[in-house]
Amino acid sequence: MNPYRVAVVGSGPAGVYATEALVRSDVEVSVDIYDRLPTPYGLVRYGVAPDHPRIKSIIVALQRVLEREQVRFLGDVNVGVDVSIDDLGEFYDAVVFATGASAGRRLAIPGEDLPGVCSATDFVAWYSGHPDHAGAGESFALDAESVVVIGAGNVALDVARLLAKSAADLAHTDMPPHVLERLASSGVRDVHLVCRRGPEHAKFTAKELRELLELEDLATRLDADLLPADAADPMVAANLKAFAELAVREVVNGQRTLHFHFWSRPIELLGDGDGVAALRLERMREVEGVVRPTGEVVELEAGMVVRSVGYHSTPVGTLPFDEGLGRIPNDEGRVTGPDGRPIEGRYVAGWVKRGPSGVVGTNRACAAGTVAGLLADLAGRPARGASAADVDRALAERGIVPVTYDGWLSIDAEELDRGRGLGRVRTKIPDWETLRRIGSAAGREPVQNTA
Ligand code: NAP
Repeated sequence: MNPYRVAVVGSGPAGVYATEALVRSDVEVSVDIYDRLPTPYGLVRYGVAPDHPRIKSIIVALQRVLEREQVRFLGDVNVGVDVSIDDLGEFYDAVVFATGASAGRRLAIPGEDLPGVCSATDFVAWYSGHPDHAGAGESFALDAESVVVIGAGNVALDVARLLAKSAADLAHTDMPPHVLERLASSGVRDVHLVCRRGPEHAKFTAKELRELLELEDLATRLDADLLPADAADPMVAANLKAFAELAVREVVNGQRTLHFHFWSRPIELLGDGDGVAALRLERMREVEGVVRPTGEVVELEAGMVVRSVGYHSTPVGTLPFDEGLGRIPNDEGRVTGPDGRPIEGRYVAGWVKRGPSGVVGTNRACAAGTVAGLLADLAGRPARGASAADVDRALAERGIVPVTYDGWLSIDAEELDRGRGLGRVRTKIPDWETLRRIGSAAGREPVQNTA
């Protein structure tokens, strides 16, 4: 009997974990992983902070999956644009969408579109060397002395930390040279993290907060009086302990200062055509478990503002999309139509399934759940019987020549080489043209598996 053939759209952690669950199952399955980019690994490559190499090392495990005999990587193919979902459906017994959540939520306050205001999504993509953002550096007001980052999650903390770090602290990262230069020469002196609720509600994690304690030339300011004495939840208690240490920490000759502002709700961004100048915020407090405005309004000077208040997914081709929830509607990973019933052969995994939450590893269980349902649905059905060659022919007829896994290995080797030349582990290639040129030099035939 022919193996089943499954397409996975998106090669970030959720897509690769879905692939792993498929090829490790006791059902015979071949998987083609599509990605819009010529490079795999999604947010591990373009979202995990460049100064967090330990988290990035998860790539080693993801790579083992891409190297399995039954798996092919088809990069530089935009599913839903270059090839329709219905077209894919002709060749695959099922399609799993693991396209993540790539858009930043908005604040919905006046002044949000002033020059100098940006989303963390764009800023992170730029400093991570994402090819869609290679030329974006000039749009960030990095000459500002005072920068505000809005949000109390780990992305806000990543952004604040990278803005507050010295050039020496950033020098070892894999950021493209032009990004490093721009960050290293920024005028930033004060970074303000604005959190609409209290320290006990913050979604930062203690490990990331404690990392700040290690930065020798970064001063930290935090009102210790706002810290509750203790918390029953061990994660909150660990955060409070870290905040308490940050509040009393003495830094002599700090080059930059990170200020935590709790109970501060953004209400308006002030400025003019030249750019943002200040954030107006209202102090909040908790009364009988409900967070309420106090009426006290203050202004915080800001020449650059980064909003980091969560992500949402974007629609994929003609698949149903829930605008309110910002993800694809599904029932335990089975994509559902307007009548709430599953659409045959269409599945989701990761952030586009459950929303932007959890750490990288959370996607493993999430993807395994989807794959369990997918395999149960396939059980007893004959495979469609399309071969890898059938897929390649159909793509070629549409003028699509994917970057293969070997093509990605060439890009990888070039980045490592460029890094070595600069005394770093890796230097990312940030532009489409070079990625495509190097990715295609290995021969853009999908070479791995011809089953
Ligand atoms: P997040 O953890 O959901 O945090 C979003 C923050 O935005 C919350 O503090 C939220 O406050 C705040 N917020 C929402 N709407 C707001 C508004 N209108 N005004 C002011 N504040 C507002 O999201 P994230 O930081 O984007 O992170 C996404 C996921 O990636 C999380 O699971 C995160 O842990 C993970 N991640 C992990 C790491 C790591 O492990 N190192 C690094 C980066 C990201 P409320 O709580 O009051 O709603």
